[in-house]
Amino acid sequence: MSGAWPSLFVSHGTPTMVIEDSPCRDFLTALGGEIARPDAVLCVSAHWETPEPMVSAAPEPATMHDFHGFPEALYELTYPAPGAPELATRVAGLLQDAGLGGGIDRTRGLDHGAWSPLMLIFPEATVPVAQLSILASGDAARHLALGRALAPLRHERVLVLASGNATHGLAERGRRDDPPAAFARAFDDWLAAAVEAGHSDALVDYLAVAPEARRNHPTPDHYTPLLVALGAAGEAAIGRRTHASFLYASLSMAAFRFD
Ligand code: ZN
Repeated sequence: MSGAWPSLFVSHGTPTMVIEDSPCRDFLTALGGEIARPDAVLCVSAHWETPEPMVSAAPEPATMHDFHGFPEALYELTYPAPGAPELATRVAGLLQDAGLGGGIDRTRGLDHGAWSPLMLIFPEATVPVAQLSILASGDAARHLALGRALAPLRHERVLVLASGNATHGLAERGRRDDPPAAFARAFDDWLAAAVEAGHSDALVDYLAVAPEARRNHPTPDHYTPLLVALGAAGEAAIGRRTHASFLYASLSMAAFRFD
């Protein structure tokens, strides 16, 4: 569709992704040069869970270092992008119109699920950013509905950027450069096929129909952002896998684009 913006899902891995060379880091760095500059980004991160959907509206969101036990250099990184209070108001309105609730948080900063990919995609930190939370319930159908409510943003120069992990079996991770684990690859292959075939019902029912779903997503938080990106591209969304790589054997760093 001419004039419509894609929505994106990216995998953010561990916080060290921003400072250590990897194919995924190269992909995200190149992505900024490939997509047009949006007026604002709505980021849907795995690392902000709330009972009801919330939108961040701080005019100057702080960089949250919401992780423990990583190299000191990571705690010194900041991503000083401006906030997007007007976008936050627009998003809350869209969600309320769709009967999905939608509150505004005027103080929350950017968590690492948001700023780590943004730092690579838009390193100049001048594109305003708001975040939309995911639901603590993990309700997959409701996340798709959240995305569908955001579809008008495609025509408003807003980039919906969902940030999670295509697979997230942290408990079974290996060394950084180990080859992909079979159980992770099985889910990752299923996911790419379902996205590219437009099987939104299967993507919602992933726990029942995908191979090794719970092993790859013991909690839903790194998966549900993908459903928001899918929904935001509209009912006839066409998805494409735009990046495929693994870290730590069990973390698929796959990225998807929905048009
Ligand atoms: Zn994460």
